[in-house]
Amino acid sequence: MNKGNIGVTSDNIFPVIKKFLYSDHEIFLRELISNAVDATQKLKTLSTAGTFKGELGDLRVRVRIDKDKKTLTVSDHGIGMTADEVNRYINQIAFSGAEEFVNQYKDKAEAIIGHFGLGFYSAFMVADKVEIFSQSYNDEAKAVHWSCEGNPEYQMEETIKADRGTDVVLHINDEFSQYLEDATIEGLLKKYCKFLPVEIAFGMKKEWKDGKQVETGEENIVNNTNPAWTRKPADLKEEDYKSFYRELYPMQFDEPLFHIHLNVDYPFHLTGILYFPKIKNNLDVHRNKIQLYCNQVFVTDEVANIVPEYLTLLHGVIDSPDIPLNVSRSYLQSDNNVKKISSHITKKVADKLAELYKNDRADFEKKWDDIKLFIQFGMLSDEKFYDRAIGFALLKNIDKQYFTLDEYKAKVKEAQTDKNGDLILLYTQDADASYTYIQRAKEKGYDVLLMDGEFDVHAMSQFEQKAMGEGEEEKHALRFVRVDSDVIENLILKEDKVAVNLTTEEEDALRYTFEGLLPKSDKANYVVSLENVSADALPVFLTQNEWMRRMKEMSAHQQGMSFYGQMPDSYNLVVNIAHPKVQALLADLKAATGNSLDDLNQQVEALRKEQAAEKDKKDEPKEGEEKRDLTKEIAALREQIKKHYTDKAADNDKVSQLVDIALLASGMLKGEALAKFVNRSVELL
Ligand code: ADP
Repeated sequence: MNKGNIGVTSDNIFPVIKKFLYSDHEIFLRELISNAVDATQKLKTLSTAGTFKGELGDLRVRVRIDKDKKTLTVSDHGIGMTADEVNRYINQIAFSGAEEFVNQYKDKAEAIIGHFGLGFYSAFMVADKVEIFSQSYNDEAKAVHWSCEGNPEYQMEETIKADRGTDVVLHINDEFSQYLEDATIEGLLKKYCKFLPVEIAFGMKKEWKDGKQVETGEENIVNNTNPAWTRKPADLKEEDYKSFYRELYPMQFDEPLFHIHLNVDYPFHLTGILYFPKIKNNLDVHRNKIQLYCNQVFVTDEVANIVPEYLTLLHGVIDSPDIPLNVSRSYLQSDNNVKKISSHITKKVADKLAELYKNDRADFEKKWDDIKLFIQFGMLSDEKFYDRAIGFALLKNIDKQYFTLDEYKAKVKEAQTDKNGDLILLYTQDADASYTYIQRAKEKGYDVLLMDGEFDVHAMSQFEQKAMGEGEEEKHALRFVRVDSDVIENLILKEDKVAVNLTTEEEDALRYTFEGLLPKSDKANYVVSLENVSADALPVFLTQNEWMRRMKEMSAHQQGMSFYGQMPDSYNLVVNIAHPKVQALLADLKAATGNSLDDLNQQVEALRKEQAAEKDKKDEPKEGEEKRDLTKEIAALREQIKKHYTDKAADNDKVSQLVDIALLASGMLKGEALAKFVNRSVELL
């Protein structure tokens, strides 16, 4: 019997392992099985090279639970270890400055393990005692039995072992009895070992017989040793990719739209398959994630530090031994290999999309709605991706036709350029709600885009900004305006607006009467504006400032913009003085008022004149003479004029009706106001 101390310099590593690795303790199984698989692969390599001349025989790795003895055993038939090798690889673990790195990696348990080659020692997270029985492939070597009880002392002795390879026996600590349950182990094997390159057996296959599950004579193999990403694309059919997708995500019932097979040898190693899922909304975005493997060993499904965020919307597998797995996040992001890998994947994804677009545009259009969210996310977050994607990113109009931005600009340029030479792109977020506006736009020969996606508002702003950048040659802006944000004549101004030619009394009559009936709400502000629109537009309608509305919509997605989100909506109630109904109303108002305001109006007039004269006089008021506040006096008189109209407005069914129609046309007449409108309409019949 040979006794010794494990070569750890600072105190000993066991408290470290137990304390800091607690949260991730399940990875012990991954570590032990990886070692077993490595040992098996090494033997295969030696055999191919001719160094090992014996029979390879049964190479399965087996995981066994013995509930009575409370042990979990991982056995392999790999190269095994001689006593000398156990000494070198297990006893002399490379471990120095324990405290320093424990402080450094406190939060990242796995960092300690893999980084310092402590894979094997992670067994002590869950076991009181660990034993190794190993027989080297080298026939002359004697088998060795090593054991250690979670302290720096170990025992080593010669033993007899019938077959080549290594058994690692864990005496599971009572606190971790879940690792003696079949279901727990089966779950971990499915998580970490699903695609390992050597068969992993756990118990026997079961089948249903007479209403009971019974064991068959066949071993239960938990992994697929030859997953699709490790094979050559030429050897795979479409169906193989689809069935691999189902294997990866058994709970996902939607088929992927298409895939990208990654295969890089230089300057780094990377294989994998990425799938484009259907992404309808943000909700189901992160249900399934890209899985990261290292030589077929599952590492994590948190790939956010390895690929740009928008790529995390994809599904599939990335396998690379060149991604440093066990280092801190900030290190990962600055790592050169990781940067290269990330930009390689980005390029591949963009290339694939460009190829699909080029080869089968019709099919690409069919898939567009499902990949749009992803592509827009990419364009918004990555300039390089924008530059690639602008060639195939599509806009959809309300007739379900698709265009690239350039195609669309060319299509509408003639009709939708305004008097300043700006190109106005009209859009709707809800084709039903803005039906009347869309009809009017169409009558003018304009086209309307459907922009109802989550990122559409952002995408439009991005297009506008980019167009501004190009402005040097074009000198003209590109603007998106929602089709219902104003009357069509105002959205694309072809000539200067016709001036409003009303007297002050007429303006007062209309403005104050409508102001008397504006809806009152905390969530919206209304302002009356008199405009000479056209006789065939609605007599009264609502408009909304495009910029303000968009800021509010964008604030829903963006941090630091909540200020806009809290602002009330602001609307203009446009009174179209060109409309015969408005002119008739004005005549009524004038008749009803008669001469009753003449006196007030004359007083205002007189004060205004006085005010104007005052302004011309530069000298100071004489001493002792109190300065009159003319502005205040005028305001008081105007307030009386206003009151005259607003008081009367409440009884004016026609005005109420006009305001309600304007609200109704914008889908904003609801609840009690809607009921009142219906009743009043019946009365007026
Ligand atoms: P790592 O696997 O990161 O090198 P480990 O602590 O897990 O670190 O293992 C240390 C070494 O012990 C391995 O590199 C290998 O040489 C040897 N070893 C561990 N498990 C086995 C095994 N089942 N068969 C043969 N050698 C093994």
